[in-house]
Amino acid sequence: MTAQPTAPNRGARTRTTRTPTKPHGQWVVDGQEPLNGNEEFKLADNGLNVRERIESEYAEGGFASIDATDLHGRFRWWGLYTQRKPGIDGGRTAQLEPHELEDEFFMLRVRIDGGQLTTQQLRVIGQISSEFARDTADLTDRQNVQLHWIDIENVPEIWRRLEEVGLSTTEACGDVPRVILGSPVAGIAADEIIDPTPQIREIADRFIGDPSLANLPRKYKTAITGHPSQDVVHEINDCAFVAVEHPELGIGYDLWVGGALSVVPRLGERLGTFVAPERVAEVWHGVTQIFRDYGYRRLRNKARLKFLLADWGTEKFREVLETEYLSEPLPDGPAAPKPTTLGDHVGVHAQKDGRFYVGAAPLVGRVSGSVLTALADLAEVHGSRRVRTTPHQKLLVLDVPEAEVEGLIAGLDALGLSARPSLFRRGTIACTGIEFCKLAIVETKANAATAIEQLEQRLGALEPEIGRPITLHVNGCPNSCARIQTADIGLKGQLVNIDGEQVPGYQVHLGGGLANVDRAEAGLGRTVRGLKVPADGIADYAERVIRRYLGDRENENETFAQ
Ligand code: SF4
Repeated sequence: MTAQPTAPNRGARTRTTRTPTKPHGQWVVDGQEPLNGNEEFKLADNGLNVRERIESEYAEGGFASIDATDLHGRFRWWGLYTQRKPGIDGGRTAQLEPHELEDEFFMLRVRIDGGQLTTQQLRVIGQISSEFARDTADLTDRQNVQLHWIDIENVPEIWRRLEEVGLSTTEACGDVPRVILGSPVAGIAADEIIDPTPQIREIADRFIGDPSLANLPRKYKTAITGHPSQDVVHEINDCAFVAVEHPELGIGYDLWVGGALSVVPRLGERLGTFVAPERVAEVWHGVTQIFRDYGYRRLRNKARLKFLLADWGTEKFREVLETEYLSEPLPDGPAAPKPTTLGDHVGVHAQKDGRFYVGAAPLVGRVSGSVLTALADLAEVHGSRRVRTTPHQKLLVLDVPEAEVEGLIAGLDALGLSARPSLFRRGTIACTGIEFCKLAIVETKANAATAIEQLEQRLGALEPEIGRPITLHVNGCPNSCARIQTADIGLKGQLVNIDGEQVPGYQVHLGGGLANVDRAEAGLGRTVRGLKVPADGIADYAERVIRRYLGDRENENETFAQ
């Protein structure tokens, strides 16, 4: 369907620029004098430069030889975080200094732009995990794979093996352009509007690792989709492109900017522009440079692009983009129509070439090196050489001939990767939580896995009536890595008072969601004041809510938000 152009959001959301009482730390307005410790270390030495020291000094000298600023700052530019020391309970997280919370091992994040992997690459990640990471591996909700228990001594060898097959950890963390979310069915889905792979590759190849973009005010997230399900959570990215058909100009993208969650969530906004595929990289570069040059650097909790957009409004943002950063203005463009299919891609789906892709759900993203290696073998046995990770902690096996589909599904089941999961398993994601994260207050993955099992037992018979995945997002702290505000039921980890005692638990958010088959527009869930759930009470609470939802809803399309 061809959508009609709509006027850009000019006027309606424009705010006047406020006169700051203190400088915001905008480079082009206030100069580059660093206004806090983070800005100091970033300006003193580009984070990308730490790689040379890791390879020549730290891997040789061991953990004790690592400079503290590199360890807690620049290491992130290469996907490395120290992990939480086991045994420190969540009540002490806020009381201890970072170095008191960490042990001598690292989490290593492998960036997978667009979630696109060959089976060879998957096997290499699996083998690295088994050999160097105690067989740990988590699929994240940003299409990355995270490994744990990494020794600094092994990092150069891990990089060598990753890079040999075209993978990297470059700018996987830090104040940089993070992994580019891409439709997991790019280039293959029968109902695709446009294959965004060339745009993802151009941005990654030209700009990831570019020193001129390696000192941004904060992290910077990108998403691109060409699929009508809008499967890349575009509303909560700093810069996102959503496929759309312009009645005169053909297929291109609708540009969104300024989305992000965390403690102060804000949905992105359309600039009302149409971006032709060949201009995506230029426009992405322009938006990224606006963030670098105008982004707020004085306070880290005000540094994401969303705060600049909130002050500027979309009209000024577009004007600055077009006049200061682009070769020519962008035409007005239409909004994409409401999604008509689910975007998690679980199950069996037709490809445009007559073969099939199969989407499977690990339990809350948790896999292992052995499972990834076995998955690579399994995919190849059934004729596939390609897999994809998704922004929903799921994975896809591509290019499966029809005759191989059931054999593949049986093999996936044996690996704990269900292509026909319960609605509860399908809709639940969880962040890293207290197992490895230094900021965590509460356990997440194990609690969520237990809840899934309990909900399957208690509500399995009601699945036909429920009809769609209930999204249950479990977070270990207020940072919202697992997107609490965009779930039917979002759980934010904190200490809660139950019967006068402080125990690990969750604050409840209800009724959030991104644009999907059930809702035309994204909406942030509302905090249910005073409603706290103990860590072992997730299923009890979710069961009550789901039963009430089924009892109260007026029709089967009604969402939690209504
Ligand atoms: Fe860690 Fe909090 Fe993010 Fe979970 S939400 S991964 S606990 S920072």
